[in-house]
Amino acid sequence: MSLDGVYDSDNIFARIVRGEIPAVRIAEDQDTLAFMDAFPQSSGHCLVIHRTSRARNLLDVEPEALIAIMSTVQRVARAVKLALAPDGIVVTQFNGAPSGQTVFHLHVHIIPRWTGVALGRHGEGMADPKALGELAARIAARLNG
Ligand code: AMP
Repeated sequence: MSLDGVYDSDNIFARIVRGEIPAVRIAEDQDTLAFMDAFPQSSGHCLVIHRTSRARNLLDVEPEALIAIMSTVQRVARAVKLALAPDGIVVTQFNGAPSGQTVFHLHVHIIPRWTGVALGRHGEGMADPKALGELAARIAARLNG
């Protein structure tokens, strides 16, 4: 998939929004949804998406939707800091397959990092859903500080 293309309304994140496939949810509001990455690169790796925008990437998203996404990214990243006490947090986002994008519904990664702990490879190794649920609950409990 190149940078240009048609939004596929059956992509996996659109299906998560519609509740057609499960996800370990952390936070949701009218505009956005935050959930655990099922193939995490670190413990606590999560994703933020817009619920209704049909943007595939940063280049085609409406500014209002981008503001909503990034506001949730900040809120969840703050909760990750409080819940998991990482030494750093990577916030990243890929545009087009050659950049590493595999799901073509705009999403932002929040990846906590600890000094001396190597990053896992992108999209490899499915996490235990129970462990993801416990992490999501810890993060969700700190959304309000
Ligand atoms: P990207 O490569 O930026 O498109 O990222 C897609 C991300 O979605 C990867 O980090 C995957 O691990 C993650 N992912 C793929 N399928 C699912 C799923 N069903 N639930 C949660 N995360 C997923």
